[in-house]
Amino acid sequence: MRPHRLLDRQLRKLGLSAEAPPSSPEAWSALLERISTTYAESDEDRYLLERSLSISSREMREMSQAMLSELEKRVAERTEDLEAALRELEKARAAAEEGTRAKSRFLASVSHEIRTPLNAIVGMSDLLRKTPLSESQREYVGTLHTACETLLALIHQTLDFSKIEAGKLDLETMRIDLQTCLDQALDLVASKAKAKGLELRCSVDANVPPRIVSDPTRLRQILVNLLDNGVKFTAAGHVAVTVGWQADGDATGFLLLTVTDTGVGIPADRLGSIFGPFLQVDTTTTRAYGGTGLGLAIVERLCELMGGSVTVESVEGRGSTFRVRLRADLAPESFTPADPFPAWPPDRAAAAHPSLRILVAEDNPVNQLLAVRMLESLGYDSPLLATDGEEVLDVLRREHCDVVLMDLHMPRMDGIEASLRIRDMFGEDARPAIIALTADALEESRAACLEAGMAGILMKPFRTDELQSCLAGLQSRSQGRVP
Ligand code: ADP
Repeated sequence: MRPHRLLDRQLRKLGLSAEAPPSSPEAWSALLERISTTYAESDEDRYLLERSLSISSREMREMSQAMLSELEKRVAERTEDLEAALRELEKARAAAEEGTRAKSRFLASVSHEIRTPLNAIVGMSDLLRKTPLSESQREYVGTLHTACETLLALIHQTLDFSKIEAGKLDLETMRIDLQTCLDQALDLVASKAKAKGLELRCSVDANVPPRIVSDPTRLRQILVNLLDNGVKFTAAGHVAVTVGWQADGDATGFLLLTVTDTGVGIPADRLGSIFGPFLQVDTTTTRAYGGTGLGLAIVERLCELMGGSVTVESVEGRGSTFRVRLRADLAPESFTPADPFPAWPPDRAAAAHPSLRILVAEDNPVNQLLAVRMLESLGYDSPLLATDGEEVLDVLRREHCDVVLMDLHMPRMDGIEASLRIRDMFGEDARPAIIALTADALEESRAACLEAGMAGILMKPFRTDELQSCLAGLQSRSQGRVP
């Protein structure tokens, strides 16, 4: 056998070898002593090794514990910081939202306060225009009327713009007849174009689907804004709208609207900023033609909301071209258009023989008188009157009415409450159609009116032709039912 190298060395020091065992008891005892010492030393080494191992693992544990708790402390501090920042952000967001709500409420209530007297001014000047007047009186009333129209446009546009900016403008989607929508927009600018001797052109490409699904009010608003600008900034020549369609799948595509004019044009250095709010190239032109500088800003934002865009090209002194691209879906052929916008121009046949029994519910005496005069000027019989919701119900218990023109804000019982009661009192065929009269621009009020079963809303101030159009729509709907 070959012994361990250390044992071999010990044996040799003692003059022994594996092959030659100790020959004397002294040699044997010396060997045993050596072996025993070696064991003792190895015990000591093992003890020292185990000790040092236990110390370093304890230190390691302590170190990692310290690192862990340091890490946990830092994470906790960081979490606390983050939570504090989040709380601050949440507070800032709530404050911003409250600010936006306060702004909308403020705008709605200011516009409500402005609209109520404006309703009387617009309506009365409208009625006054239709009475015999001297030349100068006619001129004064005309100026009064134009100023009212400008003020009205300003209120509408400011409200629209702030609604869009606050993300509160919800788009409707419904089936619309494109040609009707175009005609309605063109009708609204036709008289202005005619007065300036401008030709109003319209062409629709053959591949344009006759019916699409979109938001009719906003589509019309885009068209009217662009056409109105075209007419406003053109002294001679024409304003033309062309409609194209770019398919993008079987049932969807882009509606392409181009409005071109032969007017003053826009300087090249202003083209980039023309869609900014309250931006006008030449304030002297604007002073001559009116305007708020909000029209194009609204157009641009509406186009974006409708999944599209608007661009402009223009040569100063030659004219401008605005190109609008709007995402739209094709309406299935079998569907009939469901645009609730009243026929425009109003149904003249129905309006010529007004036969509706109308109840006017309005607590403000000036606005009540105005509604009466407007109805009379349209050829309707003098309406029944009520000054609050309770009176409306009393009248309806006694008399048959086809239409209630219902102010929303009335003492004792408001218009919404009265409409809900009417819905409970009468069956669907027997109940009158209710048109809300409101100066309240809040979206919630609009929704509340529809929920209460009202057939339509007339925003104060409304003009005689708007009232006429609304009633004519109801009349043609109810013909055959009205006694
Ligand atoms: P507004 O017409 O009420 O002033 P808009 O936002 O509609 O406001 O237009 C902003 C400005 O852009 C106008 O004041 C006018 O300077 C310029 N502009 C818009 N459309 C035309 C156009 N068709 N031709 C020439 N200038 C235009």
